[in-house]
Amino acid sequence: MTKLFVISGSSGVGKGTVIKEFLNKHPGFKLSVSCTTRRKREGEVHGENYFFLSPEEFKECISNDEFLEWAEFSGNYYGTKKSFVEECLQNGDNLILEIDTKGALNVKKLKPEAVLIFIVPPSLEELEARLRGRHTETEEAIQRRLASIKPELENSKQFDYQVVNDTVENAVKQLEAILL
Ligand code: 5GP
Repeated sequence: MTKLFVISGSSGVGKGTVIKEFLNKHPGFKLSVSCTTRRKREGEVHGENYFFLSPEEFKECISNDEFLEWAEFSGNYYGTKKSFVEECLQNGDNLILEIDTKGALNVKKLKPEAVLIFIVPPSLEELEARLRGRHTETEEAIQRRLASIKPELENSKQFDYQVVNDTVENAVKQLEAILL
């Protein structure tokens, strides 16, 4: 049976790395590609990391009811297309959505069979250090992302599982225990 997994975690927690490592080891799982209005980071590819849309294009998709869920996060819009998810599920893929906690809880309402996983850092100090260390955001964007940590932790109380990302290897092992 096809399974739908939703993985969330505070900005900078390293969920991208953990998920990438998991996907390398388990090709039967597919990662959903979301739409966003945020600017492209160096090295990111349209259609691979995200579908990068203008705010106008994004709003057009909202009015056409094309999103399974969408949310405003840190001043930008992010959303998961219904068509993308349905296509994967019809193909029998195990699908992972990497989205924020608000989006995750919305998915759970629409698809109660979805399994919600929250990735936590070993400590908040470590999280801030990681967020600054990747040098992808301006100070203002970092501050906005730090401010999102509390509400994300609050929402995560409704999640099914928590995975601590102390080392990538450990986090992947915990993910395997849940997803396999
Ligand atoms: P980033 O800008 O660092 O790529 O992502 C910022 C936040 O947006 C992360 O928490 C990420 O999980 C979340 N996100 C990415 N795609 C989606 C989506 O389609 N829907 C929602 N609700 N959040 C998303």
